[in-house]
Amino acid sequence: MDNKVRSKRYTRLAGFFVLLLLINVGCMAGGEITVASQVTREADTGNAYALSNRDRMHVASQPEQSVIPHNRMAIIIDDVGNDMKGTAEILAMPVKLTVAVMPFLPTTQKDAAAAHEKGMDVIVHMPMEPKKGKPEWLGPGAITSNLTDEEVRERVGKAIDDVPYAIGMNNHMGSKITSDKRIMSIVLDVCRERGLFFVDSRTNFRSVVGELAASKNMPPVGNDIFLDDQNSKPHIRKQMELAAKRAVDKKSCVVIGHVGHTGLNTSAVLRETVTQLQGQIEFVGIGDLVREVWDWHIAPTLPTGNK
Ligand SMILES: [Zn+2]
Repeated sequence: MDNKVRSKRYTRLAGFFVLLLLINVGCMAGGEITVASQVTREADTGNAYALSNRDRMHVASQPEQSVIPHNRMAIIIDDVGNDMKGTAEILAMPVKLTVAVMPFLPTTQKDAAAAHEKGMDVIVHMPMEPKKGKPEWLGPGAITSNLTDEEVRERVGKAIDDVPYAIGMNNHMGSKITSDKRIMSIVLDVCRERGLFFVDSRTNFRSVVGELAASKNMPPVGNDIFLDDQNSKPHIRKQMELAAKRAVDKKSCVVIGHVGHTGLNTSAVLRETVTQLQGQIEFVGIGDLVREVWDWHIAPTLPTGNK
């Protein structure tokens, strides 16, 4: 490399480090992370094109890394609470998961307490009427379309009371109810009054939940990918790959898996993939995502006093 080129490169690199220093000073002075990452992005488009790959790697290892948003994935495991297959394996996972526990079932309280004990997030897995499917799959205390406003309100409240440590709720089945504005509006109101957010499992693409949540200033959080809609390890692996790619591209991703008939496959693939992905992906609870991505900071007001 001739001296001219080298000195030009050093000048550019020095300029870039000065910029990094300014970014860090900005952060220490209480600058918003969003502002800092905008600056980083501008730096990327402005100066970084002049850097070789080796230089990029060198720059990437500099302190500015702390202002780059993490690639976060929240894994929700549905259908917990009836001593379902895979529950013990899920609760023994080496990363933070979110456990969606159905109310009024034999192991509802035990599983919710065990998940909380392990540092996992707990949410209520609220049974809701589907368009198709057997009523016995719904479970006790379900929300059905024939209920009055008052009955819906009462059932949602009782379900929240029954699942200790719950910080949010998602729907079990519910392809019919999540497209019903009257009912979902009441469900969201009760959640908000109790300090809970609602995660749309997205069992129906016509769901009104996201739109309703936004109109009530609640986080419009929903499932991005079902992990085990087919019960085979290769399929679950493929879904985890998609999820990891989304977490990198979009900086966050919400996925849903299940205990029960897919439980052993789902937990086995999760154990293998979370280990491989650690370092690239940060596994967070859904409560962390809701706080960090949607800036929702309302604490639950549960009878258990859990925060
Ligand atoms: Zn479910």
